[in-house]
Parts: sequence; structure tokens; C-alpha cells
Amino acid sequence: MKIGFDIDDTLINLREYAFHIYNVKLKKNVPIDVFHRLERVEIHEAFELTEEQGAEMWNSSLEEIYFNACPPFPNAVETIQELERRGHEIYYITSRPKVHGERTLEWMKTQGFPIEGERFFYGMKDQEKIQFIEKIELDYYFDDKPEVLNTLGGKGKTTVVVKDQSYNRNLNFPRILEWKDIENFIDTREL
Ligand SMILES: [Mg+2]
Repeated sequence: MKIGFDIDDTLINLREYAFHIYNVKLKKNVPIDVFHRLERVEIHEAFELTEEQGAEMWNSSLEEIYFNACPPFPNAVETIQELERRGHEIYYITSRPKVHGERTLEWMKTQGFPIEGERFFYGMKDQEKIQFIEKIELDYYFDDKPEVLNTLGGKGKTTVVVKDQSYNRNLNFPRILEWKDIENFIDTREL
């Protein structure tokens, strides 16, 4: 089967990692339960930053957020390794900017994610991502972002699964909480 994954906040715990970086850089101590209650993808409101300040903070921290020690979610690497071992085609589709694409690919490899060069795609805006996923006819696609899931869901042949996050709890798709539970969503033996 063709199985696609978003990266940030689907396979790796990027926002929570960024939340810690913000606390350090801003010399704050905003507790993690504030993070777990956020109702949008952006995290700056927890630090009382405006939209503009938030964008600036994100962009100035990007190098550290993307390419340092952001942890994959538990069992994400092992789960995808196992899917690949069983012969599934694994696709990664991220909206990370083009300029960071190749380094992201290398960084993901160093984390242990199995990646075939031609199945790694980056630099797509939400709408492009949706069109692309429809075009390559994935059997399954996993993402955290409401805008992407809502537009994709129910169209074409791709079954979409939402990676549980505080800002997507109102979405009515199959929902994965832990990567070790992937077999509850797809029959991974089937090719
Ligand atoms: Mg994401």
C-alpha cells in the first residue's frame, strides 16, 4: 500500500519542542499544561506574543526547532520501519519551506526514518499538498492539521487519519493517539 505521512506534529513533536525553546529564549516558565490546551497550531499566544511577534519568534528560532533535537513521537520511527519492512511504500509530505527541504530529509534519516529519495516531498502549501496527495493516490494519509484533513477527507481514494492534537479534537476522522496502535487503523500486512 501507499502510506503517506505529514512530518511536523504528526511524526515528530515539533510544537512541544518549540514551546520549550520559547520558554528558554524568553526566560519564561509557561507550564506544559498550557501547551496541551492550545486550540490552534501556533504556540505564541501562550507567551503573550502578538501574531507578528509570534511569526518573528518562530522564524528566528527555526534553525533550532527544525534541526536540533526535536524528538519523534514514541514508536513513530519503529512503526514506519516496520511498515517499510513489510513492503509498503512510505511517502513523506511536508509543507516545510523548500529552502529547508534537503536538510529536513537528511535530519529525518538521522532519526532513523526510512526514506526513499523520490518519496520525500516538501515546500508545498496546504492546497498544493492536498492536490498532490490526490494525484499520487495514497491509500492512507496521516496529518495533524485541520485545514489539510478537512479538505482531503471524504474525497478520492485516500483514507485520512488524524494524529491527535489539542487543536484538532473537533475533527471527525479516525484518530491515532499512539503510533504503536497503527494496526488499529490499517491492516499493515496487506500490500
Ligand atoms: Mg503537521
